[in-house]
Amino acid sequence: MNKFYETLDMATKQATLARGLPDGRVQCLACAHRCKISAGMRGICQVRFNEDGRLMAPWGYVSGLRADPIEKKPFAHFLPGSIALTYGMLGCNFHCAYCQNWFTSQVRRDPVCDEAVGTMRAITPAQVAQAALQMNARTVVSSYNEPFITIEWSTAIFKEAKAAGLHTAFVSNGYGTPEAINALLPYLSAIKIDLKSRNDKTYRKLGGVLKHVLETIELSLKAGLWVEVVTLLVPGMNDSLDELFALTKTISGYSTTIPWHVTGFHANYKMRATENTTAESLTRAAEIGNEAGLKFVYAGNIPGAVGSYEDTHCPSCRQTLIIRRGYRILENRITAGGKCPRCSSEIPGIWE
Ligand code: SF4
Repeated sequence: MNKFYETLDMATKQATLARGLPDGRVQCLACAHRCKISAGMRGICQVRFNEDGRLMAPWGYVSGLRADPIEKKPFAHFLPGSIALTYGMLGCNFHCAYCQNWFTSQVRRDPVCDEAVGTMRAITPAQVAQAALQMNARTVVSSYNEPFITIEWSTAIFKEAKAAGLHTAFVSNGYGTPEAINALLPYLSAIKIDLKSRNDKTYRKLGGVLKHVLETIELSLKAGLWVEVVTLLVPGMNDSLDELFALTKTISGYSTTIPWHVTGFHANYKMRATENTTAESLTRAAEIGNEAGLKFVYAGNIPGAVGSYEDTHCPSCRQTLIIRRGYRILENRITAGGKCPRCSSEIPGIWE
């Protein structure tokens, strides 16, 4: 076996989000692919595998550990201006041609990513929580690769983080299962979910099925998690008016107070020939979100070029509440209790 893959397979532990099948295979319940895996075989993500009838899952390492502004996740209504200690692992259950983190996410699926195994660093859940406290972070976040495929490891970290008084969050493509969300619920504060398209054909090209992402959004809201939705606006993929009308209507159908971030694509990975999203296109998408009734619409990745779409406004009196430029908070006027200081309307989110 390739030496990189040996290292990766050794950093595993038996999965709990799994069940044995009568035919001897094991079914993974961590993500909506629900892979049924024969002995010696792997799931679609390639990092969970059946070893002698036991499903093995990533454990005991991070491939990135950074103190980021929470605005970078992006979250707009979750402890603005605070630090989020963010870790990633390796692998993904999708294969988006424009992935910004492709070097770590596409390990074992694309040979050019083999050397990402060199980024693995052994660590314990308690050490991650300790690092968050040392860095004055308020939140521990699983991001950079898809968190659902490494859910057992995140649950262990989040238990430690919660015990230390920290918040926790997933930055996810939303390809979850009810079993996975239920397992996480006692330890998870918030989830950012990508709604990459409103078109199932597009989702299938990226490696998933639209309806499962919609189910994750719905389940997360019903479970009481703080949810923000993100759409990376990729020219030619999801930026038509019809698609944007349908996508924003879907979000507002769940709730008009879900923050929706529409963010700019930068040429990357297998889509280096595609033009970057323009500020005009982002602003037009944000306006469509407003027309669909969404009360908190944010345009990201082109700081200073999208007018007030980086800021938070009170939906009742239009007072500007938070002024942002990129990941920086220039002013935050929301009261400690999460209200507009002018009209006292409650602004949904986690503010303390
Ligand atoms: S995490 Fe998803 S892709 Fe990976 S083995 Fe489990 S069900 Fe399959």
